[in-house]
Amino acid sequence: MNGTPRPGVSRDPAAVLAALGAVRSPDSGAYASGQPGASAVRCVLCGHAPCDCPPFGTPGYFALADRLHGRTRGGGA
Ligand SMILES: [Zn+2]
Repeated sequence: MNGTPRPGVSRDPAAVLAALGAVRSPDSGAYASGQPGASAVRCVLCGHAPCDCPPFGTPGYFALADRLHGRTRGGGA
């Protein structure tokens, strides 16, 4: 079976984002305070609400994460 999480790697999105560099959504304040619009919080990676990211762990997901951090993966060569 593919996609087995490594030990110590949380599947919680907030923890995953923290591990990626603690980048916060501009709407995270509203989310944290439990405001009614929290369900429409924009994803920090794709900027969509609801989130429209590829599944975590896929090349597309990491491309989004790298773009967010201003990195490029260099084609892997
Ligand atoms: Zn997303």
